[in-house]
Amino acid sequence: MMGILRDQVRVILNDFGVAASALEGGPLVATSPISGEALAELTVHTAGDCDAAVAAAVAAFRQWRLVPAPRRGEFVRRLGEKLRLHKDALGRLVTIEAGKVLSEGLGEVQEMIDICDFAVGLSRQLYGLTMPSERADHRLVEQWHPAGPVGIISAFNFPVAVWSWNAALALVCGDSLIWKPSEKAPLTALAVQALFEQVAADFGDDAPRGLSQLLIGGRELGERLVEHPDVPVVSATGSTRMGREVGRVVAARFGRSILELGGNNASIVTPSADLDLALRAVAFGAMGTAGQRCTTLRRLIVHQDIADDFVARLRKVYAGVTVGDPLHGNALVGPLIDRGAFEAMQAALNAASDAGARVHFGERLPIGGGDAFYVRPALVEADRQDGPVVQETFAPILYVLRYSTLDEAIALQNGVPQGLSSSIFSTDIREVERFLSAAGSDCGIANVNMGPSGAEIGGAFGGEKETGGGRESGSDSWKAYMRRQTNAINYGRSLPLAQGVRFDL
Ligand code: NAD
Repeated sequence: MMGILRDQVRVILNDFGVAASALEGGPLVATSPISGEALAELTVHTAGDCDAAVAAAVAAFRQWRLVPAPRRGEFVRRLGEKLRLHKDALGRLVTIEAGKVLSEGLGEVQEMIDICDFAVGLSRQLYGLTMPSERADHRLVEQWHPAGPVGIISAFNFPVAVWSWNAALALVCGDSLIWKPSEKAPLTALAVQALFEQVAADFGDDAPRGLSQLLIGGRELGERLVEHPDVPVVSATGSTRMGREVGRVVAARFGRSILELGGNNASIVTPSADLDLALRAVAFGAMGTAGQRCTTLRRLIVHQDIADDFVARLRKVYAGVTVGDPLHGNALVGPLIDRGAFEAMQAALNAASDAGARVHFGERLPIGGGDAFYVRPALVEADRQDGPVVQETFAPILYVLRYSTLDEAIALQNGVPQGLSSSIFSTDIREVERFLSAAGSDCGIANVNMGPSGAEIGGAFGGEKETGGGRESGSDSWKAYMRRQTNAINYGRSLPLAQGVRFDL
């Protein structure tokens, strides 16, 4: 397999317009988790490049904010069309760089297309409000203006979809973009930037030069971007450790951050559940994307009366699931991103075992060569919710806990520091509604009769507590990319003051 992926990547990137010279001679080695092979050696940007990118984004913003929003929507429509045209190649590149199976690589590009479609409609719906004024001959309204350049910091596991959730909305809102992708997934970012530039070149004068800036590099480059006072909005997706740092820095300069951080998502399986459906949902939620989704199912909270049977069925599914090369055949589970992810997984399994949990599977499989890390997903029967169970280990480990009352199950579900996604399997309306009530799940996402993983773009995406509180994608998430302005307009001849205050000269 060695060398083949490197060649494939070059063909795809060349077709997108990325020069071959951009893929050689630099210090950042882009690798594929499929085989561990090096795909390219990229130049990294410096702190000075970051400052220049921000300056260019500020200049672009000054022009872009004046382009009518529906015309900005037309730009995003064309971006969506460009992605449709290149879906297969870009999806394949996502699979090569992030290691997710091909249908998920393609699904990620579909998600980009979907959010573009959503944003096109939104470009005619950036609604303000009219409020009744308490004063005669006055009008009270609020309107939304573009916020400024938006910094986007993305994680390796959704290397392009996360950019699009932010970019499509920010563009129709009138903002320019500065993107610092994960250092573990720079090639998909180069590809998307090249497609973006094709759209911009065809769009004519309305699309300013520098509307989207790409910064290739690691954490230090991200830190530089986050500190910059000319970036009013920073959307950062990644670990809670990262978000804690970014949130502090952005808040200190009174910027706005949208934080999309780690999850530790649970499903509750009740005795009334459709267990066949639950089994399939749990399998996808916990093992899909090799456990490397922020919404991956990590804790299964099963009623004690059905737990033995359900776990026995799950063990069979885990034993038989096909792990392998995500580009080929019938593999449902691809590789971990790198050695670090494998070691973190083994450390968590050892800690669980030391604490008395029963660990099934989780071993490394001899696939892809010595630099590739494929594992059989792990199922862990835990007696208590502590230690590794309350942490997010970014690997396919499903901890199984048992409960006797629904209140106890909900307390377990909520009893972790993270608050991204959750679900319940039940056909009892009382159980379902209690789970969705104010006293139920404390997460940003709460699903019924499906797993916690795999969100649609139409809803607002994000979570509470250590997940960071940000919301992206659908619903009214667009408001985070704009600044709100309240206007009181006096069209009379007198000057009444609010609250009846008198100031008679
Ligand atoms: P990571 O935190 O290691 O890196 C994410 C990005 O942040 C990278 O681009 C990195 O260079 C940058 N970065 C790191 N430290 C920084 C700092 N101090 N200042 C500025 N930038 C910094 O995360 P990862 O390993 O790439 O991704 C996995 C994590 O991302 C998991 O925790 C997962 O749950 C989370 N994630 C969350 C969501 C969500 O929407 N909630 C989506 C995808 C991934």
